[in-house]
Amino acid sequence: MFSNLADSLDKTFRNLRGVGKISESNITDALRDIRLALLEADVEFGVAKEFVAHVKEKAVGADVLKSIKPGEQIVKIFHDELAELLGGDQVPLDLTPPARILLCGLNGAGKTTTAGKLANRLKKEGRKPLLVAIDLYRPAAIDQLAVLGKQIGVPVYTPEASETDVVKVAREALAWAETQPHNVIIFDTAGRQEVDERLVEELKRLHQFVQPQETLLVADSATGQQAVSVAKHFDEAVGISGIILTKLDGDARGGAALSMRAVTGKPIKFAGEGEKLDQLFEFHPNRMADRILG
Ligand code: GDP
Repeated sequence: MFSNLADSLDKTFRNLRGVGKISESNITDALRDIRLALLEADVEFGVAKEFVAHVKEKAVGADVLKSIKPGEQIVKIFHDELAELLGGDQVPLDLTPPARILLCGLNGAGKTTTAGKLANRLKKEGRKPLLVAIDLYRPAAIDQLAVLGKQIGVPVYTPEASETDVVKVAREALAWAETQPHNVIIFDTAGRQEVDERLVEELKRLHQFVQPQETLLVADSATGQQAVSVAKHFDEAVGISGIILTKLDGDARGGAALSMRAVTGKPIKFAGEGEKLDQLFEFHPNRMADRILG
């Protein structure tokens, strides 16, 4: 992830640092290169344009040309803007009781794996999580969650195979939860290949009933701009509170990570970086900006 972007930016900034005296046209060239690099990384067009405009504004305002190390200063402005684009400060989970977390997303995004990873994280932090499987279309997803729960020692509620009503299942799951020591419940919901009416209606009903503190969209970063438009759809449907980006360990260009916050206004709270259950990390915009700038 980000390797092409990091390479292009490295080249641009090396050029900038290399010139003895920076002129306005050097800056214009660098900004053009940055914009191209962002677009090549699959960053949404409007986001890239606005980002470059911000960097330019800051660079002019900071009187970069008169500074002792203009190249360094531009890199710093770029870094800070990048961290801002990625969301500024890390946004922690809201775990105020009853601490219900609803995970939603498309099939294959990594929802069930992420449910296991999140439960594992919370357990390691000393909490008592429970997992609830509410994907009533794919018995395999229910089995998958049960297996993950066993691996990490977290109880899992699994509905009967004949169940079709998500609210009924959620009600029974909450009754079951009362019999278990817990202080946070993670609900894994059904996905589809694409956002469709039925999925949205079902999710709305479930959301309304569960009243979660956190509604997190699990989005596959490898799907680039599609992930961003999926996030917009889910947000319009149920109002998401944040995003978990998966597969950041892959070789996707990074556009989803970079556009997500700007387009949806919602924070990326965690990043999945592998298939193992301990490979879910808090998303820190600053650290991610460091990583992109190498
Ligand atoms: P769901 O359909 O959304 O529940 O998706 P799954 O949890 O079944 O995950 C789909 C596939 O993506 C599985 O093979 C997971 O192991 C894999 N996966 C999930 N998260 C990550 C991640 O962060 N990195 C990588 N490389 N693979 C992941």
